[in-house]
Amino acid sequence: MRYDGSPPRQALAGGETKTREGIQLPQAPIDPNRRPRVLITGGAGFIGSHLCESLLPVSKTVVSVDNYRTGSAGNLDHLLANANFQAVTHDVVEPLDVAFDQVYNLASPASPVHYQRDPIGTLRTNVLGTLTVLGLAERHRAIALQASTSEVYGDPDQHPQTEEYWGHTNPIGTRACYNEGKRCAETLFFDFHRERGVAVKVARIFNTYGPRMALNDGRVVSSFIVQALRGLPITIHGDGEQTRSFCYVEDLVGGLVRLMASPAHVTGPINLGDTREVSIRELAEMVVQLTGSRSTIEQGQLPQDDPVRRRPDITKARQVLDWAPRTSLETGLERTIEYFDQVLRKGAPAK
Ligand code: NAD
Ligand code: UDP
Repeated sequence: MRYDGSPPRQALAGGETKTREGIQLPQAPIDPNRRPRVLITGGAGFIGSHLCESLLPVSKTVVSVDNYRTGSAGNLDHLLANANFQAVTHDVVEPLDVAFDQVYNLASPASPVHYQRDPIGTLRTNVLGTLTVLGLAERHRAIALQASTSEVYGDPDQHPQTEEYWGHTNPIGTRACYNEGKRCAETLFFDFHRERGVAVKVARIFNTYGPRMALNDGRVVSSFIVQALRGLPITIHGDGEQTRSFCYVEDLVGGLVRLMASPAHVTGPINLGDTREVSIRELAEMVVQLTGSRSTIEQGQLPQDDPVRRRPDITKARQVLDWAPRTSLETGLERTIEYFDQVLRKGAPAK
């Protein structure tokens, strides 16, 4: 298995660091005294745990703050032996005091199944939790990066989506707790920037997948792979003609790190995602083929306000961050299938 959760990094000449999966960490400081103290809210989640792992070798300290609502302590186990790493159990809605130079604000459920199970909690996290984070960033004169989402575009009537597009969201629908919560978080970021001079960065992340997605989080890539590996029917919502663009987690993490390292005037919002658009039916067929599964493909009900088409325009990320994803969907899916295969063989954890 290519991804085994062991620390996958190696120091390169000139202070640069590259993870085994090829994430190039830009402008990694050579002088240890200049290394930042990093706070990652939601650090025990799928993306957050990869970010903790990538930043640890180039940071003075990395602190994960997580309430483990959708994340898992197991995602961070392999980092706990490092004295520069700390995992704190805490809900970001509550006051927090940690000194840091950079904060990545990832705390929020991300799967529709998770956020729709706790809509008010999702709003509290995205609004009150973001206020906690920005207040701290102001106090410590730190840079704050928001993990925003393509969901701020709602069910878009512009395609592909550029950062200038204001979106098409339903403020009273079942996705609103997440997409309106994330829109409000972006507003808070820019008001703290304008009114209080906080250095901010906003990344609009499009569908991201890879190892350490929760087995039962209901998102399409993990669901299809687990169904295929178990020989269960693959459950397509609706006719499967709706599209998404799937970015491998290593590529995404590289984009977040580059955005954090970018000059102060680069605030975003900036789209980060893969530009290959596939239908959900195509994805199901790819997963069946790559797993060699005998699973059948079944159609179910399309959830309310499920976006019909989604693909990022990443011109800005290319120009400003010199960033674009490098991992093909086939390669990323193969690695993710290997990961879930191992997880299922070992006996699936609760989440
Ligand atoms: P995830 O559910 O695996 O991670 C979210 C983490 O936040 C979990 O560890 C969870 O326990 C933690 N958390 C939730 N509420 C919290 C609270 N109140 N206090 C402290 N911790 C809390 O999801 P993910 O896919 O890793 O997403 C991480 C971030 O990236 C989220 O903010 C999400 O909105 C954003 N994002 C993800 C995607 C994607 O496709 N994965 C796309 C767009 C945006
Ligand atoms: N989807 C599906 N079957 C599943 C899970 C999801 O057909 O078992 C569909 C879902 O309705 C949506 C797409 O796949 O059209 C992506 O869903 P996901 O929950 O991964 O992310 P999001 O809707 O937030 O993009």
